[in-house]
Amino acid sequence: MDLKDYIASIPDYPQKGIVFRDISPLMADGEAYREATRQIVHYAKEKSIDMVVGPEARGFIVGCPVAFELGVGFAPVRKPNKLPRETVDVEYEKEYGTDTLSIHKDAIKPGQRVLVTDDLLATGGTVKATIDLIEKLGGIVVGCAFLIELEELHGRDKIAGYDILTLMDY
Ligand code: IMP
Repeated sequence: MDLKDYIASIPDYPQKGIVFRDISPLMADGEAYREATRQIVHYAKEKSIDMVVGPEARGFIVGCPVAFELGVGFAPVRKPNKLPRETVDVEYEKEYGTDTLSIHKDAIKPGQRVLVTDDLLATGGTVKATIDLIEKLGGIVVGCAFLIELEELHGRDKIAGYDILTLMDY
């Protein structure tokens, strides 16, 4: 099965000149979704993962079935004012201005081994902010798994030194 057959490419979305890679056909196909999940689980199995962490919203879609298969928990990283209890927060640079991401303060225990998941690695800003949150809580990031990498944006340079799995490159 070629997982790329289940990615829709939308030119000029959300703005002119950008080709948006949409994973919803992959999620809509039970076999493709399961195959992508299997590949990430296979990667994570040897890493003694304690927790999976993903940023909203597609990091949940990728991470939750992986956590379920591994028999570990999942903790969400969210935009501000979405989490109801005490959080730690990180501000990070976006193309235009800055953004903030948050995680519950008790989401990770010090020393826990964490897998980060998201649908897509672009500039790396989102995953770097997610890693910073996990490390603020004393977690150890042992891997980062993505369905898609946009190679020309060099996101992996921003997380050099971390172990990275990507299932498809564009
Ligand atoms: P980065 O922070 O620049 O690496 O952007 C990655 C984040 O933006 C991820 O959370 C993605 O869900 C989202 N993103 C950026 N470009 C795309 C795209 O083409 N398709 C789907 N999500 C995207």
